[in-house]
Amino acid sequence: MGETSMWAERTVKNTLTDSDTLKIKPFSFSGIGFDIRTFPVLKTYIDSGKIKVEYDSAKNGMAEYDYKTNTIIMGFRFASTYTETALVVHECVHAVYDVVSQKMTTAISEAIAYIVQCQYVYANAGPGKRLSSKDPKKDSVFQKAWMIAAAIQEGKTFTKLDKSNLIAAVSEHPYYAKNATADAGFDGV
Ligand SMILES: [Zn+2]
Repeated sequence: MGETSMWAERTVKNTLTDSDTLKIKPFSFSGIGFDIRTFPVLKTYIDSGKIKVEYDSAKNGMAEYDYKTNTIIMGFRFASTYTETALVVHECVHAVYDVVSQKMTTAISEAIAYIVQCQYVYANAGPGKRLSSKDPKKDSVFQKAWMIAAAIQEGKTFTKLDKSNLIAAVSEHPYYAKNATADAGFDGV
């Protein structure tokens, strides 16, 4: 069970307005735009209690956004590395689309969140610091999202093939395989 944590909430709010986060560049994916200028707005939703932040030790270093309870659930209270902060960024992307009830599939939702997460690491840790996983299916998602994130950060365009490769990788990822084509469920906060 998650618990209210002032520190976890502070970590999320600091991430939303941090200058490192503002290095994430806008892009469009499958007709859905992402703009980091939505993040400071998301902070006002946390301030007003419409979106909650909880700490759950069972999450064990991971994080999750629950669109049913409008809660960002963190497996850590403090983000001490770019990798951890990037996880916070990933969940905040889901929360932003929940605020505006954006319709999309789970695969598209995760693709966008991974691109933003990878952009954060690329912009701050550097091009040599690709996110990775020992699980080949999870690593494939990082690899494909990282390619697109690098292109966006370098002011280049990404191709339709890059896009379909990422969607295919997300659809094979053990967490999302079951409901990749289902609606992501963003229903407002
Ligand atoms: Zn996600």
